[in-house]
This record gives sequence, structure tokens and C-alpha cells, in this order.
Amino acid sequence: MDVRIIVETTAKTGEKRTEELDRLSLTDQFHSQLGLQLEQGKAILAQLQGSVLQHQIEEISAASRICPRCGRSRPVHDYRPRVFDTLFGRFRGRILRRRKCSCRLGEGDALSPFAQVLRHRATPELKTLQAELGARHSFREAARILETFLPCARQHNTTVRNRLGKVAKDIADTEPPACETISSNPLTVFIDGAHIRCRPEYQKRHLDVAVGKIETRDMCRRFGLAPQAAISPAAQLRRDLDALGWDDRRPVTVISDGEAALPNLIRGATDGQVKHILDRWHISMRVQHVENAIRGLVQRKDFPGTTAILMTPAETLRWNLWHGKIQVAGTHLQWMIVDCARLAKYDLAVRDQAQRALARCHDLHSYLTNNMGSLVNYGKRYRRGLPISTSRAEGCVDDIGNARMGKRRRMRWSPRGAHNAAVTRAAVLDGRLSVSNHPIAA
Ligand SMILES: [Zn+2]
Repeated sequence: MDVRIIVETTAKTGEKRTEELDRLSLTDQFHSQLGLQLEQGKAILAQLQGSVLQHQIEEISAASRICPRCGRSRPVHDYRPRVFDTLFGRFRGRILRRRKCSCRLGEGDALSPFAQVLRHRATPELKTLQAELGARHSFREAARILETFLPCARQHNTTVRNRLGKVAKDIADTEPPACETISSNPLTVFIDGAHIRCRPEYQKRHLDVAVGKIETRDMCRRFGLAPQAAISPAAQLRRDLDALGWDDRRPVTVISDGEAALPNLIRGATDGQVKHILDRWHISMRVQHVENAIRGLVQRKDFPGTTAILMTPAETLRWNLWHGKIQVAGTHLQWMIVDCARLAKYDLAVRDQAQRALARCHDLHSYLTNNMGSLVNYGKRYRRGLPISTSRAEGCVDDIGNARMGKRRRMRWSPRGAHNAAVTRAAVLDGRLSVSNHPIAA
């Protein structure tokens, strides 16, 4: 079967143009393949793009003759050879520049109607797609995926990486649209850290990337940044908060796992107006360790002493911490430390177990002491429907950090590279990275 495709374009002025694309011949052997193949589809798209683009550029060039301000016509300055990439192939051609109209003298003498669209020698859609894929897959793989499905020009991993960097910079520079509803809804920030392998020239093993989510009752926004590489982490977070309608007086609650640097990032962004809450899950995990160690100790047949002395405080620990009875929990914990220390001191059969239980108790005790100011009545918050754990940010750690930069992926990152990937990935997940977010001149 032979296929003939004719493209007919009609400009606004009514000028029609038809062009015939290369003929296709499809195989007659119906048992092998049906319909168009990927390569044929790509070839058609590339030709179609070339044909449409040529006419479109001519149309826009002709329309740019009239000055939009005063209506007088502007003469041609010159034609410049230009090369730029689109999703469906590379365009090579001459692009016109016009002289500036006399009504706007003094701003240089030539302008191209395409200058804004073709920044970085690529269409915004291609840049966005490169950044989106580069934030999810390795740069080499992203390049391969693009080449597989699209008739775009040959992709290099460095191009994808550089485009990701530019898109990340655009995201950081773009002011978020002002939120119309400044409400008094509580604003909660879930923040967590991802540890990423660092490139050897930075003289350290790991890089920290802060990722998280800002939530109000009806909106949410993800963020990711490498504090080392961000020009101003505070300004970036401030922009994210502003996007959700934060005003200076609104309280911000931060939930994190006891690592002081993370809530301090938000403190920097809000001038210190932050209520920090220690993540319930991280406490719970440590309590569980204590419970298991104590249970293992008292359930031994040769345990010397009364089971209840150790078991009762261990069993009430969780309840006390849940209900905000921090002092009681602390006292119980100290009893257990004293008892376990006594058992660990003598050469008893249970010595190893007692030492293990002692270490667990010490661990929980120091964790609680270090975060004393961030412990709250979790039960009360929970009953009021307020968040008490970073479980929702853990998803962000996976999506933003580990999916692309996790240790399993065996990649090493520079602080800036990690920052760009995190910023872009957060925007992709939020659906903020669409072409309409990029400035496109008409
Ligand atoms: Zn003018």
C-alpha cells in the first residue's frame, strides 16, 4: 500500500500553502506488521514539523512588520542563520530581525520576533521535557528515551543536564502566582532529609538534600533543595510558603525528625515564627526498640527479679508519650535505666540482654532530652485531625530524593546538580512544570 500525505496550511492572511510529504509504502504482508511503524511515524512527524514551522515562521515574520505600539511599518534589519531544536526535529534556517521602530529608539537597533521563544536554542516544550525526564532518569537514559520516541535531534546527556539546570533556575526565578485566598488555615511543613552520595572532589561522602511538603487544609506544594547549593534557601522556602498564601502572622507548624538543621531552614524563611513538633513515628520507633529489648530481657527463664518492675514502665511509655506526659515518661525511663544498669553490672546470664536494653533506653532518653521543646500532646492533636507525623513527607523523600538520587542508583552528585534535580522534581510532581509557566512571547 502506498500512502501520500499532503499538508495544507492557511495563514491568518488567507494565504494557503500545500506541501506533499515523502510517500510511504507499507508492507503487503499483513501477517508481519499492521499500520505505521515507530520509525515511519517519527519520519512523518519530522517532515510535518518542518513544513508547519517554515510557514509559521514566515507568517510571524510578516506580521512583525507592523509596530504594535504606533502602527508604522518596521524595515528588515537582516536575516540571521539560526538553528534550534524542537520536539520533532532540528530547524535550520534564516530568521529575520527587524529594526526597532522610531517610537522606541535607544533600546538597541534590531529585534527578532522569536528571541524569547528560542532562548537556549530550543523550544520551551523540549526544554521542559528534557528537564522532566532528567529529573527522573539518569541524563543518559533521559536522552535515550527522547530519541526513542521522538524524531528530535541527537540528544546528549550533557545537554539534558544543562537544560535541567536552566529550567531549575527558571523555577527559582519565577515568582509564584499570588495566592488569592489568604486564609487563617494552619500551615504545616513536613520536612525530611535525604542523604545523597557526593562527588569525590567535594571531599565528603554525603550531601544533604532537604525535601518536604507544605500543606494547608486544601492545598499542598512540594519542595526540594540542597542547602549548600541554593543561593538562598530561606528565600526559596519563603516563596513556597507565599504560594500557599502565607502571611507574616500566620502560624507555621514544622514536623520533622529531630535533626535541628531542618526546622532551622523554615525558621530562616519565616523569621523564627515556627512551632516545631517532633515526628511521632520516629519516637514510636525508638519506643518500640525499648519495648522489644525489655521484653526480651524479662522473658528469659533465668531473669533474676520481678518482671513487673521493668515491664510496667516499658508498657506505659508509649501511652505517656502519646498523651504528652513527658515528665512521667522521663521518670519511668530513668527507673528502667537504673534497673538495667544494675543487671548489666554483674556477671549474670542476662548481662548481654540487659546491656542491649540499657543502650536502647539511653538512646530514647537522649532523643527525648534533645527534643524536649518539640514534644506535644500527640493524642490531642490527632483527635483534632492535625498532622503528627512526617509520613507524608517520607513519600516526598522517595519521590524527590531516592527515585533519582538514591544510594542504589550508584550516582555521585555535586551540590548544585542535586539541588537542580530536587527543585525540578518537586515542580514536576506538583504539576508546576508545564510549558505555560515559561514566558513565551507572542
Ligand atoms: Zn512604533
